[in-house]
Amino acid sequence: MRKIDLRGKHALVLGVANQRSLAWAIGDALGEAGCKLAFTYQGERLQKNVNKLAQKYPGSPVMACDVTSEEQVDGVFARVEKDFKKLDILVHSIAFARQEDLKGDYRDTTLEGWRTALEISAFSLVHLTNRAVELMPREGGSILALTYLASQKVVPNYNVMGSAKAALEHAVRQLAAELGPEKIRVNAISAGPVPTLSARGISGFTGMASHHAKAAPLGRNVSPQEVGDAGLFLCSPMASGITGEILFVDAGYNIMGV
Ligand code: NAD
Repeated sequence: MRKIDLRGKHALVLGVANQRSLAWAIGDALGEAGCKLAFTYQGERLQKNVNKLAQKYPGSPVMACDVTSEEQVDGVFARVEKDFKKLDILVHSIAFARQEDLKGDYRDTTLEGWRTALEISAFSLVHLTNRAVELMPREGGSILALTYLASQKVVPNYNVMGSAKAALEHAVRQLAAELGPEKIRVNAISAGPVPTLSARGISGFTGMASHHAKAAPLGRNVSPQEVGDAGLFLCSPMASGITGEILFVDAGYNIMGV
């Protein structure tokens, strides 16, 4: 029987806030497959949570990283290089928009709100990829980001984050094309609604999640573990022929018209 075995591989996982985070579901799936892990947290408030979760994989570096701080990004890659010598997998599970930009009219988005959302949620993938490839071995590597259907369809209140996800998905394709010759694959999972810390910041999230569950072919929402398993697949050699792909893990919701 074939099984995913990632012993000898090293992954950097950005975006764990707590045990509900999709980054944790993906990191945990990679860890259970034998991959060595490094985690980051944004802000001291989350440090304790991430330290506690990382204990499941003893020896995993846990580092501060706000993607808007070049100093912290430098610190992360210096530590990964020192501890791991190489990096096989980068998981980007980061998004942020100001609370006032996740409700009301899209046309009220300010330049500052737009810059914040697109810098943290989309540009960071480009920048972190550029840093990560320096540590990726000759056999190549895998980069994974997290996106949502609002990149393509209008979702009330998602507003500027839809623009950020559209930019992120474009970046996935652009990076995949550029890094293909180096055997580095770049993909994204478009997850259905999961009640995480960030998701709860979107006005009307609970109603949206129950609409998804009713309309999805599977008649339910997805679990973080299902997103984690899909992430494990995309980062593993089982997906060696897949790059530039946006894989829906949404109980089939995206295929529905009426
Ligand atoms: P989460 O709140 O657990 O994770 C979001 C993470 O982004 C947090 O760890 C937060 O610290 C981090 N972050 C925010 N600003 C940052 C910054 N400046 N620097 C570094 N990190 C920063 O929520 P989640 O739902 O697990 O979100 C992870 C990813 O999944 C996001 O890209 C999100 O858009 C995407 N996604 C989530 C859902 C959902 O319904 N939960 C659906 C589709 C896609």
